[in-house]
Amino acid sequence: MSTAYFTHPECRGHDMGRGHPESPQRLDAIDDHLLAVGLELALSRQDAPLVDLQHVQFAHSAGYVSEMRDLLAGVAASGEPRALDPDTLASTGTWNAVRRGAGAAVAATQAVLKGEFENAFCAVRPPGHHATRDQAMGFCFFNNVAIAARYALDVGGLERVAVVDFDVHHGNGTEDIVAGDDRILMVSFFQHPLYPGSGGIPLGTNMVNLPVPPYTKGPEIRSLIEANWMPPLDAFRPQMIFISAGFDAHREDGLGQLGLVEADYTWITQRIKAVADRHSQGRIVSCLEGGYNLSALARSVAAHLRVLAGV
Ligand SMILES: [Zn+2]
Repeated sequence: MSTAYFTHPECRGHDMGRGHPESPQRLDAIDDHLLAVGLELALSRQDAPLVDLQHVQFAHSAGYVSEMRDLLAGVAASGEPRALDPDTLASTGTWNAVRRGAGAAVAATQAVLKGEFENAFCAVRPPGHHATRDQAMGFCFFNNVAIAARYALDVGGLERVAVVDFDVHHGNGTEDIVAGDDRILMVSFFQHPLYPGSGGIPLGTNMVNLPVPPYTKGPEIRSLIEANWMPPLDAFRPQMIFISAGFDAHREDGLGQLGLVEADYTWITQRIKAVADRHSQGRIVSCLEGGYNLSALARSVAAHLRVLAGV
């Protein structure tokens, strides 16, 4: 079995303006690098469909989904960009990009559940893990990972899934959605203090939050993961694992001050894959979140994909 790579050209149509770090060039940098190093050949490229809005309601309220549809489709029709918060802007291409991102996560989940692929990576934007049940924020509109995790439970018939978030920022949106849902175990580490400032006190007993101070490097992060993620993950025995794969904890990334390098992303992915191999028939769906230094992002995604694809 192979690794699927879900993406869509319309994910580049979401454009928050010159100089915004969450830029369409992020996906170009990843694609170029995968071609340059030959990894493209190890992946099965799939077109991300537009998400079914019924599936989005597994993670977001019906009111929020219709509010986003009206607002983002309105921006697309009028051509007038709108700011949802100071760093989350809607452009004419945002509505399609948002629906491709969540659609990729759901389609990847369906394909992995059917056994068409062992695992999948969704190279999509905008990211999702700051989007709460009722609010867009921090570059995020629909919470792709939370939607896919709930899809696996509510439609796929699984009883237990894990969410692993290694973005430098706390996945406050995912925590808002899944805290208290005992079918989901969420483990993460994140720089603290840093945007959005949450995560210090977990919102549910199904959350393993590891806030780390600025300038923490790979060896310390690895020790924390080994001691604090692995025992609960093994005890929980997830039937599938979803990854919020942000690469902004890289030492070259300007949005955080952590010190990870590509080898750390290799190691983290190996540890997650080992859990998936023990308990989840290898089933992993990983979705791109942050990562803003284009070169470091592309190299880190390649490190992550080499482990997922076993090459
Ligand atoms: Zn981030």
